[in-house]
Amino acid sequence: MTRRIEIVEVGPRDGLQNEAVVLSVEERLDFIRRLEACGARRIEAVSFVNPRRVPQMAGAEEIMAALPREPGRSRIGLVLNLRGWERLRATSCDEANVVVCASDAFGLRNQGATVEQQLEAMHAVAADRAARGGPPLSLTVSVAFGCPFEGEVPLERVVSIVREGARAGVPEIALADTIGVADPWAVRRRMEAARQAAPDARIRLHFHDTRNTGLANAAAAVEAGADVLDASCGGIGGCPFAPAATGNIATEDLVYMLERGGFETGLDLDALIATGRWIAARLGRPAGSALARAGGFPRPGASAGQAA
Ligand code: ZN
Repeated sequence: MTRRIEIVEVGPRDGLQNEAVVLSVEERLDFIRRLEACGARRIEAVSFVNPRRVPQMAGAEEIMAALPREPGRSRIGLVLNLRGWERLRATSCDEANVVVCASDAFGLRNQGATVEQQLEAMHAVAADRAARGGPPLSLTVSVAFGCPFEGEVPLERVVSIVREGARAGVPEIALADTIGVADPWAVRRRMEAARQAAPDARIRLHFHDTRNTGLANAAAAVEAGADVLDASCGGIGGCPFAPAATGNIATEDLVYMLERGGFETGLDLDALIATGRWIAARLGRPAGSALARAGGFPRPGASAGQAA
């Protein structure tokens, strides 16, 4: 039996959030619908953060109002605290992804809260959900492999956050390499530690390709047993703390690698390449994926150029 790897498409959130060009609600909806036509089943579609702080993510409610619930599809909203959770609960979001970062300096800069305060917020969201209901939660531990302000992030700190997620009963926990500093061996070590700390949770991995280790990290995660990976179509995005940084690993590059390796993703590679080129054009930048430049595996009989 082929092993299936689930890909969470994060382009509409992590990708667009870190682009200088601000797209309209209509354009963002168009992107989400194109991604769903590519076969994406789980999409991080919106973020319930302060639109004054992150204008790229304004209009989350409008976007969700245009996306009525559909069986087999999950539109995820990002939340940082109870206020974001309250907003999300009033929409058709199918999941809430709560982010807790693994460094105080990053947390204070990015969301004005220490790790401790973010953990309190996560527990408050989980408690509210237990009391009043609401969509399922996942937890993303950001800067889990390194911080732009503190440098090395101790494994123990990541593990303690994962343990808090498990204590709150969160069924899926992600380790995010927010600034693209991870290497494949660190991925394995941190994944194994996370799994021990949260044996009942699904472990998801989130990589940025900032230093060209993104796909190697994804391969290491799959080898270490990860079943869920985040990626963004077109490799869009970047990092506000590293101006020249590239975005998330590109969904089309990841799908190519996994399908060549015999894994199933349920995504249509040609459609993803086309969508990656489309969104890059909307953003006025070259497509960030290798597949957008090179195309997929050559098809015998298709016209080919002359090799030298
Ligand atoms: Zn990210």
